Amino acid sequence: MSDTAPVWNLYINGQWRAPRHEQHDPAYDPSNGTVLAHVARADVEDTRAAIQAARAAFDCGPWATMSPGERSRILHKLVDALEERQAEIADLEMMNGGCTWRKANLMDIPVGLLHFRHFAKLATAEPLEPVPQITFPTLSYNFVRREPIGVCGQIIPWNFPFLMAVWKMAPALAAGNCVILKPASYTPLSALKMMEIIHETGLLPPGVLNLITGPGGVVGPELCTSPLVDKIAFTGSTEVGRQVMIQAASTIKKVTLELGGKSPNIILDDAELDIAIDGSLWATFMHNGQACESGTRLFVPDSLYDKFMDRLLDRASKIKVGLPGDGATDLGPLISAGQLKSVENYIQIGLDEGATPALLGHRPTDPELANGHFLTPTIFTDVRNDMRIAQEEIFGPVLAVIKYDSLEDAIKQANDTIYGLAAGVWSANLERAVSVANKLRAGTVWINDYHLINAEAPFGGYKQSGIGRELGTWGLHEYTEIKHIHADLSRTRQARFWYDILVPTIEE
Ligand code: NAP
Ligand code: MG
Repeated sequence: MSDTAPVWNLYINGQWRAPRHEQHDPAYDPSNGTVLAHVARADVEDTRAAIQAARAAFDCGPWATMSPGERSRILHKLVDALEERQAEIADLEMMNGGCTWRKANLMDIPVGLLHFRHFAKLATAEPLEPVPQITFPTLSYNFVRREPIGVCGQIIPWNFPFLMAVWKMAPALAAGNCVILKPASYTPLSALKMMEIIHETGLLPPGVLNLITGPGGVVGPELCTSPLVDKIAFTGSTEVGRQVMIQAASTIKKVTLELGGKSPNIILDDAELDIAIDGSLWATFMHNGQACESGTRLFVPDSLYDKFMDRLLDRASKIKVGLPGDGATDLGPLISAGQLKSVENYIQIGLDEGATPALLGHRPTDPELANGHFLTPTIFTDVRNDMRIAQEEIFGPVLAVIKYDSLEDAIKQANDTIYGLAAGVWSANLERAVSVANKLRAGTVWINDYHLINAEAPFGGYKQSGIGRELGTWGLHEYTEIKHIHADLSRTRQARFWYDILVPTIEE
């Protein structure tokens, strides 16, 4: 390799290892095209080595059988170590992921650490759950034990690389599983740095946590089909999620999927505009709309429409696209040239479908931005819910505004989608807002806010937005098997009339 960018290898069985074929791929800064690092390209054999390490660690190592208190103590120490070096992680997140300095330092890294800390606390949870007393057909003592599932393959996307890595590994480790994490090829650097920091603590037994970088199309199928892997957790596109589910079926793996969305954001006619307007921009354009639960379909009532839209467009025109490290930048680049093209293609589709470009996005002309994948926000009005720009996930800074007369009709249209990840409702009347929230087919509904994901509350999708939930005890439980233990308390042969079905009682 000719340049001086650092080289990252695979993290397998507590060691850094070069990939078998010694191949590395560049990881870029999407704001200027600089090569930030050369990252190992794993093949199937490398992936198998990581799976075997995790399997051995689970079957023979102390992690799964350690007391919950001890596991929790170790996880807290890992979070302490990550907290100490969070500025390094934030820099990599910004440079490799294209998020702004503000977002990396005020949101992504601190929130990720908070969520990791939450799972360190949950790790102490008593794994035994009582069952009501059972007296029929005889007295028995029954309890449920939550046990780790085993080896978990975890595949994550590029939009929130650090947060997604935490959402996957933290609950899995807290429940006593062993992990193979596969970051997205665009954004492996913050997860690699996390692994370096964790490795340096020396606290995790070898093989408990492994990291494999390389093409999803090579590493993914091996993780999904290996008989040594017990569970796959995937976040990414609905299309790849479907393949993951199909592949995992061959060994009946447990699967959790967090997939795409096209979330509705409904303004009621009594909404408080000061928060609803900036809140709707936050719902859509945060991180350029590269968030699965972005509120990309905005429903605005006829009665408020002109006032609402004038103010929304005025506020949107103030969003500053620029270099992520500049403190004045509101939005950085999109992740890749391919993503930029795909979003521009959707803008053309919107124009062809007859939507009105009330704000039309463009590539900025500033020469400083010439080598990055920058695009200013687009707001389409006169959108019908059956248009492609209202039905398909664009994953870019594009908002589709739909005008409505009747709230019932808005709710019907809001639910008319294959997705069901999230939704927003804005109203000064909480009772009304809750009654709308109850009717929306989505895993999370925010009332008078958006994007607030909490470590204690579940997150996940209805319909084709996914299977299972992340975060909170719901998220932890997705990494457990449930074992029922029945212990007989009667201890007499006479009481067991059902044995007579096979061999009748001996006459004494
Ligand atoms: P993707 O293809 O679904 O990638 C997500 C992860 O899956 C990456 O780690 C990827 O690895 C891996 N992968 C790729 N092919 C795989 C396979 N056959 N089996 C198992 N894993 C595989 O998503 P993307 O290409 O990054 O983005 C495409 C679209 O997905 C976006 O435009 C957006 O609509 C959606 N998306 C949704 C989310 C979300 O949070 N729901 C996040 C990101 C993207 P590589 O990186 O090596 O390909
Ligand atoms: Mg892909």
